[in-house]
Amino acid sequence: MVVQDKPSSRQYGKTMDGNHHKAEANILLLGALNVGKSALTVRFLTRRFIGEYGDIESIYSHIDKIDGREISFNIWDSLYPQSCETTDSISEKQLQWADGVILVYSICDRSSFEVVRQQVQLIRQSGKLSANVPIIIVGNKRDLQHQRAVSSEEGRLSALSADCGFFEISAAETYHGVLLVFHELLDLIRESRAVKKGVTGIKGIVRSVSAVFGKKRE
Ligand code: GDP
Ligand code: MG
Repeated sequence: MVVQDKPSSRQYGKTMDGNHHKAEANILLLGALNVGKSALTVRFLTRRFIGEYGDIESIYSHIDKIDGREISFNIWDSLYPQSCETTDSISEKQLQWADGVILVYSICDRSSFEVVRQQVQLIRQSGKLSANVPIIIVGNKRDLQHQRAVSSEEGRLSALSADCGFFEISAAETYHGVLLVFHELLDLIRESRAVKKGVTGIKGIVRSVSAVFGKKRE
């Protein structure tokens, strides 16, 4: 029996049949305005740092080869809403779409760190399947040490307490740090898929038993 995921996510190739999981990862970038979400995205896609990116929201596709295997990254470079209640700074659609999340703050901007803390809570407490999505917290603009407003320790502790990965990087200075973030997230996504597969197996059995007894579920 093949158990399939909800139709809304099936369009992104996320069927629960393990074979379809091979080579696609939907990565959502969140965080306040001006922290470097677009800089990170463009660095990963082109290896370059341009400087000014404008306020564009977009989903990019990028094929990479890791350990000889092709992997297709879909990257949603989001825009933090200008005026928002923190409760709606992340949409349902974004969370349903994402296989993994990168939460970015600037080490020079304390309020952007608070935004990340709120967003991580929002995701973890959403009470849905997406509450367990792999997350990496990134402190960007590491090159601006003299303007630092958030210590590395504080960043790392925050990440640790919410079961997230953590990196401090400078999208402006190096490509390598950015690459590490995406590759680490891919590893976490793979791990979480392996776990999910086990869980879905049980769900599938429950579903088929319900079908036999004619109960309507979901
Ligand atoms: P977004 O609003 O989160 O997408 O932020 P952007 O990617 O547009 O970047 C905001 C500003 O910060 C731009 O002027 C970037 O050039 C700058 N910026 C991004 N990353 C870095 C970094 O690592 N170091 C420094 N010094 N500036 C950065
Ligand atoms: Mg941007």
